Amino acid sequence: VTIDGNRAPASYFSSPSPNTKGERVSSSSVLVINSGSSSIKYQLVDPETGDAIAKGLVERIGDPMGFIKHVYGDAVTEEELPVPDHTVGMREVLRLFDTEGPSLAEAGILAVGHRVVQGGRYFDGPALITDEVRNLIEELCPLAPLHNPAHLKGIDVARELMPDVPHVAVFDTAFFQQLPDRSALYALETETAEKYSVRRYGAHGTSHQFVSQEIAKLEGRDDLKQIVLHLGNGASVSAVKNGKPIDTSMGLTPLEGLMMGTRTGDIDPAVVFHLQRVAGMSVDEVDTLFNKKSGMKGMTGESDMRSVWDMIHNDDDPEAQQRARTAMDVYINRLLKYVGSYTAELGGLDVITFTAGIGENDAAVRRELAEALAPFGVKIDVEANQVRSGEPRVVSTADSAVTIYVFPTNEELAIARQALTFA
Ligand code: ADP
Repeated sequence: VTIDGNRAPASYFSSPSPNTKGERVSSSSVLVINSGSSSIKYQLVDPETGDAIAKGLVERIGDPMGFIKHVYGDAVTEEELPVPDHTVGMREVLRLFDTEGPSLAEAGILAVGHRVVQGGRYFDGPALITDEVRNLIEELCPLAPLHNPAHLKGIDVARELMPDVPHVAVFDTAFFQQLPDRSALYALETETAEKYSVRRYGAHGTSHQFVSQEIAKLEGRDDLKQIVLHLGNGASVSAVKNGKPIDTSMGLTPLEGLMMGTRTGDIDPAVVFHLQRVAGMSVDEVDTLFNKKSGMKGMTGESDMRSVWDMIHNDDDPEAQQRARTAMDVYINRLLKYVGSYTAELGGLDVITFTAGIGENDAAVRRELAEALAPFGVKIDVEANQVRSGEPRVVSTADSAVTIYVFPTNEELAIARQALTFA
């Protein structure tokens, strides 16, 4: 099924965006919602400047006591109160806009953008949420059993409470629908693969698309061979050639690829059979082990890179120090392998960009990877790399064979701009 008519025009990232009436959209906003299984995160975005006008989150939905935080300018409102379900959660968010500001009427909300993890084969761009689109997101639940049902709760209640604005789904997988078959397909027996929709969908697509397009703007050219390293708690890498993705590290699910905060990343699938046969683990136990108890956390006890570096620098506990260093070596080596193989796939490399929590903040990870790439002419500017900043910046030397950028991703802005194309 292709959702013709729901597809945004190819130019949806041109900024600032005019709305359909051709007017400029300054002094107006887009509400971006990321609804999870027990949380709702939201941000009111000025799509022209990219500023977050207000933002907040509802946590512990369904627990006896929930938590809400709303930030508007310098004013931070925090409340503990029971939030039995997403409907109550969303109502509380609207109440906070009402009492703490900005009033949503004054904010001039042009659209609501909903982050959706899995768009399957149906969506290669943002989609206006009609009942049909909503049902397709539901149909895709087996491919994202934790995420899509949670998104639907947010979508349903938001559509009900804000019926007068367009609601737009922006899919984490959409950008990677352009992947060529050679990187999207597993070498799995075709009938089974097709019957059960087993292929590589990728993830973090909104970020990879946003960052690669912004880098092309900064470089002033589209014919670039780029590698984007989105290194957050979840981490993925993409190879982008002339604006189109040709490979990415996440697969059917976000488990594949790089080593992450709590996920294994690539692992021999036979480890699954082995643990089921030898350790008697159930499917769910292996799932939890690979997704929640592995990666940095599983190898060091800590999922946050700052804590891992603290262990590496702490001489008082040599055993923990060694463990942490080994885990970091695995982390960097995985990055190196992907950069190497993607450079080969791209047929060369112009730009490497680091983004997300680790990519933007962890100078040591950037330096270690760049130093491992030194034999290929990659030269990091050690001083520039050390500077802490929220601005996009080049951290390679002028004579480096590859330009290294640090670029702060902004998924909320990217979602807002895509949602706006339906306003
Ligand atoms: P996600 O959106 O996947 O939850 P983020 O992109 O927010 O993750 O990244 C969070 C991670 O970024 C943290 O777990 C931590 O490892 C890392 N991080 C954040 N700040 C720093 C820092 N100053 N130095 C090193 N790592 C950092």
